[in-house]
Amino acid sequence: MIPSSLNGFFPGNKAAGTDKLYIVPVVGRDILMALGSPSLVVESAEADIMRFYCERRLVIGQWMGVDCEVWLLSSDALAMEGYSVKELRSVLMLVGDEEFALASRAVQMLEWQVNHQFCGTCGQRTTQALADHALQCLPCNSNLYPRISPCVIVVVVDGERCLLGRQVNWPVGQFSALAGFLEAGESAEQALHREVFEEVGVEIKNIRYVGSQAWPFPGQLMLGFLADAVTTEITVDGAEIEEAHWWHYQAMPERLPPLTTMSGRLIARFLEEVSAS
Ligand SMILES: [Zn+2]
Repeated sequence: MIPSSLNGFFPGNKAAGTDKLYIVPVVGRDILMALGSPSLVVESAEADIMRFYCERRLVIGQWMGVDCEVWLLSSDALAMEGYSVKELRSVLMLVGDEEFALASRAVQMLEWQVNHQFCGTCGQRTTQALADHALQCLPCNSNLYPRISPCVIVVVVDGERCLLGRQVNWPVGQFSALAGFLEAGESAEQALHREVFEEVGVEIKNIRYVGSQAWPFPGQLMLGFLADAVTTEITVDGAEIEEAHWWHYQAMPERLPPLTTMSGRLIARFLEEVSAS
C-alpha cells in the first residue's frame, strides 16, 4: 500500500479500512505524546479515553500501513495522566523525518480546517468535500485547498568557502543559509537570484537542487539548493540580514543549524563536497 521509497508515511485523505487505527493527538498546535514512548502515534484502543476530549478528527493518511487520523483535543485532555505536550519544533528533534512529516501534516490540516470554516468569497459556512480533502462552499460551488508557501534556501559556495548569514533577530554567533519566500509568478531559480542579491548583494550561478522539506511554521515548503558565487563582495541589507560572511570549510561558525533542518543539510552537503574535492 505504501511505495517502498516512503519509509512510513503515506499522506492522504482516505482511510484504507485497516484493522488498526493510529491517532496523532493534538492540543492547540502541540502534539500530545505518551510518556516514555518514542512515537507520535497512539493506537486507537489506547486512545479510547481521548474520545471524551475530541473536538475534531480528520484522516491524514497511513502510517506504517495503518490508517492514521489526527484528533484535535480540548485543553482538558492535558489533565490525562501518562501524556505530555510537545511543541512541534521540539518534535523535530525527537523523531525521524517521516514521522515529523506526519506531525506536520496533522497540525497543518487541523489548523487549515479551523481557519477556513467560512468561505472567503461569499461568507457562507464551508463543509468537508466528500470526494476530496478539500473544504467546499456549496453556495458558490468552490473548493478550498490547504495553502502551501514555497521558500527557497541556499548555501552559496566560493571554492572552499561558503556564505552564511545571521538574521537580525538571531543571537550573535548563530549563522545559517539564506532563505526567502517565492513571489507570485516567480520560479525557484529567479527567487534564488533575487533573494541572495537583495540580502547580501552577491550574484550566483550554477544552481543545484539538493532537496526539500515541509516546514510547518506555518505551511512552508523549503526548497534547498547549493549555488556558486559569481561575485563575492558582501553588502548586507540590514533589514533581514544583520551580518554575513564567507566561511572557510575548516573554520565554520560554532553555532550551525541542526541536520534535522534543510539549512543544516545544505551546510553538510557543502562540507561533504568540499572535503571530497
Ligand atoms: Zn462561497
